[in-house]
Amino acid sequence: MHQLTELENEFANTLKSIARRQDIKAYIEHNPAISAVVRRAAAQYVTGVKRQDGIAAALRLTAKGYAVSLEFIGENTTKAEECEAAYDELAGLIMEMSQAGIAGRVSFDLSHIGLMLGTEVALEHLLKLAEQAEQSGIELFISMEESAKTDRILSVYEQAVARFPAIGITLQAQLHRTEEDLAAKLPPNALVRIVKGAYQEPKEISIPRSKALDDRYLSLVEQAILQGHRVSIATLDERLIDTIADLKWTEKPGVEFEMLYGIRADISSRLKEEGHPIRIYLTYGDEWYLYLCHRIAEYPPNLYTAVTAMISEEGIAPLLLYR
Ligand code: FAD
Repeated sequence: MHQLTELENEFANTLKSIARRQDIKAYIEHNPAISAVVRRAAAQYVTGVKRQDGIAAALRLTAKGYAVSLEFIGENTTKAEECEAAYDELAGLIMEMSQAGIAGRVSFDLSHIGLMLGTEVALEHLLKLAEQAEQSGIELFISMEESAKTDRILSVYEQAVARFPAIGITLQAQLHRTEEDLAAKLPPNALVRIVKGAYQEPKEISIPRSKALDDRYLSLVEQAILQGHRVSIATLDERLIDTIADLKWTEKPGVEFEMLYGIRADISSRLKEEGHPIRIYLTYGDEWYLYLCHRIAEYPPNLYTAVTAMISEEGIAPLLLYR
């Protein structure tokens, strides 16, 4: 396993700040030559800009025996019309997935559909999507964001899941509060995704990447399974994945691995061949720049892949890597 050096950690934090710089983002997006080059790197992780790109990739993967989640990338939307547009896009996605016969999941950030304007806006959009999803045989899944939003996200989730029990929620092992949230906030037979957590959080409320975090991750997954929930084990950590595969936890009903599109397709392919249920998390949309920065910040060696993609003439075709 590649342990991040202090320098890589510093680089990762810098990149996370750069990802949020609107001026840099605007410069890249409005400069067609630069945008085209950076987009080649993003193609490693993002299926494309349009909904149809996500659907086409989902169809290819479901035909190979993978389950899928689809995300229209976006977060922290502060204008009402942009929240409405994100809601419309998700409603369109649910409809098209259903029409294409994809019995998959739609994942999203509540801050994309109104949380920044108020919990009631996010809840209203979520309930409308949940009703449509229920009728269409699609599962809705809420992603987890920075700890400053956790209480609001869980509050919206609790209100919505009381009416639509199939709504899923993501919990982050890195936060000290998560064990309690897992015990207290989920209804019986809930749908839960356990991740380590992608955000830089204060020391007082979280633990950094470490053996202690890996142990906590395993313990949370085990507790979720023992509580009778359906669990998505969402990690890219091969060592953890192999430990969990040896424990045969995916033999329990509703327990599966879930990995991000374009990352370690070799592991996903191997897990599928070994008979483990495995889901691939696909993304699409205009916000590919933010998503690319996150993937590099999360694992700085990805910068080499990004640079290779930018200078390669053939481009990248991650779908071909899934057996
Ligand atoms: P880490 O300890 O970060 O890494 C362990 C090893 O995994 C690394 O040494 C490397 O070998 C490999 N690895 C990790 N990241 C990469 C990468 N980008 N490229 C290549 N190899 C890598 N986070 C949230 O905060 N909220 C969410 O809602 C959320 N949803 C997610 C949904 C899915 C399906 C997945 C897989 C992740 C999600 N995440 C989410 C991100 C998650 O929290 C972690 O940031 C991410 O999975 C990296 O952590 P890790 O468990 O892989 O282990």
